[in-house]
Amino acid sequence: MTRPIAYITNPLVRHSAERDPEAIANAVANPWTAMVVLAGDLPILQTGEPGTSLLPAAILRRLPAHQEQVFLGTLNDRPVVATLAPPEAAELFQDDPVFAAVDLRSIAMRGLVPAEELGMLAMAKSLLDWHRRHRFCANCGAPTQAAQAGFRRDCAACGAQHFPRTDPVVIMLVTSGEKCLMGRQPRFPEKMYSCLAGFLEPGETIEDAVRRETFEEAGIRVGAVRYLASQPWPFPSNVMIGCIGEALTDDIAFDGEELEDARWFTKDDIRRMLEGTHEEFLAPAPIAIANHLIREWVKE
Ligand SMILES: [Zn+2]
Repeated sequence: MTRPIAYITNPLVRHSAERDPEAIANAVANPWTAMVVLAGDLPILQTGEPGTSLLPAAILRRLPAHQEQVFLGTLNDRPVVATLAPPEAAELFQDDPVFAAVDLRSIAMRGLVPAEELGMLAMAKSLLDWHRRHRFCANCGAPTQAAQAGFRRDCAACGAQHFPRTDPVVIMLVTSGEKCLMGRQPRFPEKMYSCLAGFLEPGETIEDAVRRETFEEAGIRVGAVRYLASQPWPFPSNVMIGCIGEALTDDIAFDGEELEDARWFTKDDIRRMLEGTHEEFLAPAPIAIANHLIREWVKE
């Protein structure tokens, strides 16, 4: 079974042009509003088969003073608000069989909520995490206040406006005819290999980032690069830009710092890795765009 890549489906209407100052207060006062709650960086779920991260608005009464709120948008006209509670709030739900506090990676891996909710959770986690880390102005150091329904922070002291960040990462399957290049970081699960990846730098095109990262990590020169798909990756606020690159050279050279191994895999290897029948190697997890990149390539 092919599962969708995690976090890519987000059915919310964002209402980005109508983020007025009352949007959050109005939504919170509406008993129909759905609440997405994070205790620190752990989403609170209502358990079930599957469970849901869209909680009744009354859940706020069970929480200690919340720290930040964001109006995420509407889902079939139902307002959806994300609320950041302190990390200790997770303990309030520990002995309650109806709720669970689970990290967002495990929620996706274990399919604990419908796939459509993963995009909303990614959005909520990235935004709330940004609020948590940007309480002070990067320009003058004064405290900042949330504005525009949680999509901006303003500094009253110097007038600067700060916007939530999204950090682009290129992730590429580099191919050479019937073989493709993957590497292994020491932190990966045993036997797992995945696509090479790295942050896009300021003033750099996506294509050049693919070429630079591949050369730095594996010593392979890359020519043509094409874009395939992207994936929000809320750890904390990346967007993974999935590309296919054509190798111009064959000899792998890695320094052992970022990668502990890099090698060429045949299409037959990849098929067996995806099926889980390869005796030596494992494919990247199905929730990751790397899995999608190799899956698309073996079909070609
Ligand atoms: Zn300032």
